[in-house]
Amino acid sequence: MALFQKKKYIKINPNRSTDQKERTKPEVPDELFAKCPACKHSIYCQDLGDSKICPHCGYNFRITAPERLKLLVDTDSFEERFTGIESKNPLDFPNYVEKLAAIKEETGLDEAVMTGTARIKGQKVALAIMDSTFIMASMGTVVGEKITRLFEMATAEKLPVLIFTASGGARMQEGIMSLMQMAKISAAVKKHSTAGLLYITVLTDPTTGGVTASFAMLGDIILAEPQSLIGFAGRRVIEQTVRQTLPDDFQKAEFLLKHGFVDAIVKRQEMRENLALLLKLHGGVKNV
Ligand SMILES: [Zn+2]
Repeated sequence: MALFQKKKYIKINPNRSTDQKERTKPEVPDELFAKCPACKHSIYCQDLGDSKICPHCGYNFRITAPERLKLLVDTDSFEERFTGIESKNPLDFPNYVEKLAAIKEETGLDEAVMTGTARIKGQKVALAIMDSTFIMASMGTVVGEKITRLFEMATAEKLPVLIFTASGGARMQEGIMSLMQMAKISAAVKKHSTAGLLYITVLTDPTTGGVTASFAMLGDIILAEPQSLIGFAGRRVIEQTVRQTLPDDFQKAEFLLKHGFVDAIVKRQEMRENLALLLKLHGGVKNV
């Protein structure tokens, strides 16, 4: 009960610094306040709610794959698949194996994407959720393999595929092997499509690079969260190449919707309802 919860106070550490100014500066725990990247307001984290939405401007804060899963699928319906695939560090990139081990420990994730099956309002889907806290959800060989296997499983079991994308692009520590995942996944998407099955992508902040250039944009239906950054190359690179100043909202979900790259922008609070409806309209009920 909220009534009996221990109150959180700002802590002042008198031993932190000998400098008088520094010494009296309160230490604010990171998890207490968040700054909205869109409207720059400081927000008391509790005010963001489970959906983590800015109460001032409606910006959808980045959330982890387990957090998204909780908001999206029927309770206890998620069965994780294709875990335990290890990267072989194809380029012998220095410290890469150690970095992967550390980030796995820190995040509790198997890789930058979580894959499996779940139910949304009773309708079974093959589901992948990318997590930007894991090396910016960059796509290396393991991410590529997990998503490919998900499509192959969905094709065999006649399931619709639903992917929440978020990525900084290809994983540079795995070089060309990362780029090859784009073609590999696209081939699996094509087989799933030829079998007449539904594929929905939801683009979340940020979806960029090789992920945008492959499976993120191959959905039969492409949804996006409000104000998400969606693009291929970075803004500065494009401006230097085309020698033009780009509009302010360039690479935002709303800009992409206006130009026909996205079918609809769906608020996070309405995502589950909308996806359930789309699955039902496309015959998802058969899988109950
Ligand atoms: Zn805001």
